[in-house]
Amino acid sequence: MEGGIPTLEDLEQQLDGLAGERILVRTDFNVPLDGETITDDFRIRAALPTINWLTDRGAQVVTASHLGRPKGKPTPEFSMEPVRRRLAELAPGVELRENLRFDPAEEANDDAFVKQLIEGIDGYVNDAFGASHRAHASIVGPPRYLPSAMGRLLQREVEVLQSLRDNPKRPFVAVLGGAKVSDKLGVIEALLDTVDALVIGGAMCFTFFAADGRSIGDSLFEPDQTDTCKRLLASGKEIHLPSDIVGLDAAGNVATWGARVPDGGKGLDIGPGSAAEFADVITEARTVFWNGPMGKFEDERFAAGTRTIAEAVAATKAFTVVGGGDSAAALAEFGLDDDVDHVSTGGGASLELLELGDLPGLAALRQGRNTP
Ligand code: AMP
Repeated sequence: MEGGIPTLEDLEQQLDGLAGERILVRTDFNVPLDGETITDDFRIRAALPTINWLTDRGAQVVTASHLGRPKGKPTPEFSMEPVRRRLAELAPGVELRENLRFDPAEEANDDAFVKQLIEGIDGYVNDAFGASHRAHASIVGPPRYLPSAMGRLLQREVEVLQSLRDNPKRPFVAVLGGAKVSDKLGVIEALLDTVDALVIGGAMCFTFFAADGRSIGDSLFEPDQTDTCKRLLASGKEIHLPSDIVGLDAAGNVATWGARVPDGGKGLDIGPGSAAEFADVITEARTVFWNGPMGKFEDERFAAGTRTIAEAVAATKAFTVVGGGDSAAALAEFGLDDDVDHVSTGGGASLELLELGDLPGLAALRQGRNTP
């Protein structure tokens, strides 16, 4: 048990050995696809420690995952077939069911669907960290009926993210970027209690700029969040905002400004001065959590800020955690993903675990049939 959640060893003990047992492993095989080609198989490889541990002990492993957003209908472009082919190379003999979200019952957490999922199954393992913040049938259902456990990937994610909440080495710096403040406000507020400094880049900095009375031109911002940003700025916490911005001016040319964006301009990256300042804050920290790009990094003209931050996160001796999604993609693009301590497989799930300290999928395992 770890934090009241059964581990693979607990499951083995409870089933009296795993030889011949059929184990359903809920994985997160929601991989990026270009047509039928998997452009990054990180999520499939991330499930191998659990799958191999089970098959080494004679278990018959049946995996199941969602892929994309098929909205409850069988949709050929979201078929698991490309994943099935890759999985057959990496873990021969392991079954993979069809996309769970082809049936609306998955997202509706329908009990009849849960029973269908576990027909002929002897034990359940959740290794889908990236989906564990959703109370969907395949995540919260099986522990009600079957001996269950968390897989190795889920276990490591929980250990790392809980350690950031419970006893981070200080100074602890959180670097947040990306487009939407509203998605991340809860975690920003929760982090303010734990972190020593908060660094804000990406489009979300413009809502803070607006709250601070600075002009933002045509940059992305969320007017209904300015009051909350004002409150955060007045909290007395160390919050670093960019001191320069790179973007497109009214004529469509790339321009660099100070901490204000002129009329008709659109901010798309933090400027070189801010990137250097943020890198210094990262270098002085002993724990760093990073979520969200510093700019529109998919466009090479606005990738420099994100690249500088990624390099600082990769180079520091601090304990470094990168929270999924776009920041993980950026790290991989710059070839730096091996240089951080932990790249989370779940963007939304890592933020929610940091914010709330728990996830529906973890609670389900804790309250499952085989917990005391
Ligand atoms: P999120 O999903 O909230 O983490 O947002 C990630 C997206 O935000 C990425 O696709 C970035 O291109 C985008 N982004 C970051 N900064 C900016 C910006 N200043 N203007 C427009 N988009 C941005």
